[in-house]
Amino acid sequence: MKLAELGEFGLIDRIASRVAASPSVPLGIGDDAAALLPTPGTLTLITCDMLLEGVHFDLSFGNPQALGRKSLAVNLSDLAAMGAHPRQFLLGIALPADASMDVVEGFMAGILETAGRYGVTLAGGDTCASKGGMAISITALGEQRPELVAKRSGASPGDLVFVTGTVGDAAVGLRLLQEGARDGYLVSRQLDPQPRVAAGVALAEAGVLTAMIDVSDGVLADLGHICEESGTGATVEAAKLPFSDEYREITQPDPYGLALSGGEDYELLFCARGENRPEIERICRELGLRVSVIGEIAAGSGVRVTGPGGAEYHPPKKGFDHFAPSATPRKS
Ligand code: ADP
Ligand code: MG
Repeated sequence: MKLAELGEFGLIDRIASRVAASPSVPLGIGDDAAALLPTPGTLTLITCDMLLEGVHFDLSFGNPQALGRKSLAVNLSDLAAMGAHPRQFLLGIALPADASMDVVEGFMAGILETAGRYGVTLAGGDTCASKGGMAISITALGEQRPELVAKRSGASPGDLVFVTGTVGDAAVGLRLLQEGARDGYLVSRQLDPQPRVAAGVALAEAGVLTAMIDVSDGVLADLGHICEESGTGATVEAAKLPFSDEYREITQPDPYGLALSGGEDYELLFCARGENRPEIERICRELGLRVSVIGEIAAGSGVRVTGPGGAEYHPPKKGFDHFAPSATPRKS
């Protein structure tokens, strides 16, 4: 069945029938606007991310369910980076009239799966026909008490720089997908990122952070954003970057370039005073999430990287220029 047979309102009805009621959305899909009920004493954090076919995703790389999950996950990652509890989202979607219902159904199933997992409610959206490819625009809303919101701007010299999980995996995953791989751990890190919602909220609510961001553009670029907003510089020790075994094996002999410049890991990068390190490690341990100190905030501006030998390391502009697939045996 093609989307054209179901029609715009048929599709909206089908979406609406799958959305569970929520006290935070007293009026949801079906009216001209939705009504939201805020938790008293909280700020609303709101974020929007677009995903365009051919720019941000390639449907031939993965199944539509994973695309649905990722579309919402990248927005939840932005809320996590503010320390916000995710609550609701709006879904704008443009689809070619000849889109197959398998793609549309799969995509919606993926989005609603992630929504259910994180307790966020689809409150409305907009649906249009596209003359080009598929386009997705999600606006997600979260809440946090004003004094607990984690911004990019609070870091100061001497703060430690932390990152959750491992970095570089998603960038290698993209490279492997472009070469024809369709599964495995690194590919799943690109197609199916896990937003660090519980960690973002717990760290913010523990009051131990000075600044936080999610790693969407790469460690260097995202730490650079914290530095710009905080009016500081930073140093990163390449040898302290956390790598997965799969990543380390495939990026020998230089795993650093891609880990620093590759994006889309959707880990949390944050700063804190050294005395809060034990508390941060305890919180992450309880969540089963790896956390590493990779550097320090410094006076001045810009991010400097110290290579494993101690000399300053200059990552290649494009991390994956450094990545030689011919040098790496592939097990597929
Ligand atoms: P209007 O023409 O007043 O903008 P629409 O026909 O676009 O209304 O939408 C009707 C209802 O369906 C609205 O409540 C809207 O929020 C909801 N809606 C439309 N598209 C989507 C979508 N892709 N996901 C969720 N809700 C949607
Ligand atoms: Mg509309």
